[in-house]
Amino acid sequence: MKKTKTIITVGPSSKDINVLKEMIKEGADVVRINLSHADTAFCNDIINKVRKIEKELDKPIGIMLDTDGPSIRLDKFIENEVFLEKDKTIKLYSYPVICNNTQFSINYSDIVKELNINDILLLSDGLVELEVIDIESDYVLLKVNAGGIIKSNQTVHVKNKTLKLPFLSEKDREGILYGIKKNIDFLALSYVRDEQDVLEVADILIDQGNNHINIISKIENSKAIDNLDEIAKVSDGLMVARGDLGIELSMEKLPYYQKIILKKAIEYEKVGIVATDFLLSMEDSNHPSRSEVSDIYNAVMDKCDAIMLSGETTIGKYPLEAVATLTKTITSAEEDFDYQSNLNETLSNIKNDITSNIAYSVVDSSMRLNASVIVTNTNSGYTAFKISHYKPCCPILGLSPELDTIRLLTINYGVVPRLSMECKSTDTIVNMCTKKAINYFDLEGGDIIIITGGFPISNKITNFMKIEVI
Ligand code: PEP
Repeated sequence: MKKTKTIITVGPSSKDINVLKEMIKEGADVVRINLSHADTAFCNDIINKVRKIEKELDKPIGIMLDTDGPSIRLDKFIENEVFLEKDKTIKLYSYPVICNNTQFSINYSDIVKELNINDILLLSDGLVELEVIDIESDYVLLKVNAGGIIKSNQTVHVKNKTLKLPFLSEKDREGILYGIKKNIDFLALSYVRDEQDVLEVADILIDQGNNHINIISKIENSKAIDNLDEIAKVSDGLMVARGDLGIELSMEKLPYYQKIILKKAIEYEKVGIVATDFLLSMEDSNHPSRSEVSDIYNAVMDKCDAIMLSGETTIGKYPLEAVATLTKTITSAEEDFDYQSNLNETLSNIKNDITSNIAYSVVDSSMRLNASVIVTNTNSGYTAFKISHYKPCCPILGLSPELDTIRLLTINYGVVPRLSMECKSTDTIVNMCTKKAINYFDLEGGDIIIITGGFPISNKITNFMKIEVI
């Protein structure tokens, strides 16, 4: 059973309920909807389908909404695709124009005021490069340094420049309110620049009385790298958004930043996610390349909680095969992961609180005793999250009577979240946890399980561990 979680992005290739269901059976744990490409009707449809599948499979599934962020995008071109020839020029206007290969506009009119001569604009995933060579009152003239195809609605990056865009557009604000209304579980924030951006969203959640949604900050520009500590402190998770990060910073440094960002997530005890291009070739082929398999393996060794698929499951021809390949490769990588060394490394960072100490002791004992499963009875999910942080070798059965809690645990490494009844006594906790463990895992007589809970039951904090031999 794999422990690293899988986030899938939904799009035309995967919006069918049967495809979605099969992807979840193949190992998808969290479903992401990218608001840059989804309208309310699409979101409603997918959320309804996911909640239906959740009931049918009796398995919680996390739902993640991903904001547009302060990004700038090309307006609509008359032709779906336009080819820009190297050394030709093109005008970028400050007001909407008919877009073709000689002129275009974007969704941010002030750009013309903020650009300087020699500024570089990157389009089409960084493949097309335009340089500012002249500035007039209502347009800038750009020279095509590297040509290629551009399409409507593509993101535009201005190299080494932070534009004065507000973090939240009206569209994103509406998207966040929509997510709160639909009781989604995770908000992925695009193009976060500093902790103020995250706090602005956290304030909306507080204002709306929402203490459920977890905030995942996508690290995808140099500002976010500069402010990584501050962002990590106020977020619930960090995502290595390799697509945009590879455009903003040099592509060759991506493996380095992946490690740095994941280390920060571990240091601040936050969720660590790696995204983009894991199985790019599987958009067109039913098997992965060797380097893609190595990339997945290395992300597991870098200690992420979750790996995210985007194009593979949104527009790819083989969404099911991509999820299955990810599951197979993660499982294989986890066989080689050195759980003991990882635990030894975390020892010096254990916090002086009761739950951290119980969590560490549970994981330590589970390794010494070669336990089959750790079962944690948790209301808020905090104990399961803590145990997950120390990465035990065996699975963690995270039991809670709170549906919101088990949905949040879908993203945490090694946690198998399941709904359970509320326990009225410590004896009931132990009995219920033992029964559920036998039910969900293939346990045999002599197998060891480790149970955590609170004693007395009114004490809402985890303070005991019980070692049971089946
Ligand atoms: C990325 O840039 O890697 C990313 C995940 O962002 P998005 O898919 O939203 O562009």
